[in-house]
Amino acid sequence: MSEADNLEPYRSKRDFSKTSEPPGSVATSSEGKPRFSVQKHRSKRLHYDLRLEVGGVLKSWAIPKGPSLDTKTKRLAVPTEDHPLEYIDFEGTIPEGEYGAGSVIVWDIGTYENTTTADGKEVPIGEALERGHATFILSGEKLRGGYALTRTGRGKNERWILVKMKDEFARPDHDILEGKPNSALSGRSVDEV
Ligand code: MN
Repeated sequence: MSEADNLEPYRSKRDFSKTSEPPGSVATSSEGKPRFSVQKHRSKRLHYDLRLEVGGVLKSWAIPKGPSLDTKTKRLAVPTEDHPLEYIDFEGTIPEGEYGAGSVIVWDIGTYENTTTADGKEVPIGEALERGHATFILSGEKLRGGYALTRTGRGKNERWILVKMKDEFARPDHDILEGKPNSALSGRSVDEV
């Protein structure tokens, strides 16, 4: 599948004459480190969308309870359609009646480093995700250090688990979602966009 085709599910869900979300152009690979963001999205239910830049698109997961700094906390991550790279810093309100209607802020943004290995060899992030297990170090405004994403089901039941890895940035007793609730870009709350 070409990168442009990867965005077809994303585009087919949205009416770009109504939503201010980006339609997405043909992807060009960015220079330097790949980026990530976590968007806080108040739609029917408040959730957090993790997006990792992989192969010219944003691989995406909806995390109902958001990321945790506690290495013992497993957070359910439900895969969603690939998003265009331009979505990484999207903040705004998706109109009532449209897909994902509600407000979105960039809760965290930064770069990541793939640290996935198998049999002592580095595994490219795209391949790691296809295999169902990836580890990476986040360098965000809020999230730092290692995280692991692991697939637990396939097909319609595809689910992933996001876990904080043990390192100096792990903090079992700190709720960063409560502590730093606002946009990393604009300082706005999800009710202010
Ligand atoms: Mn969402």
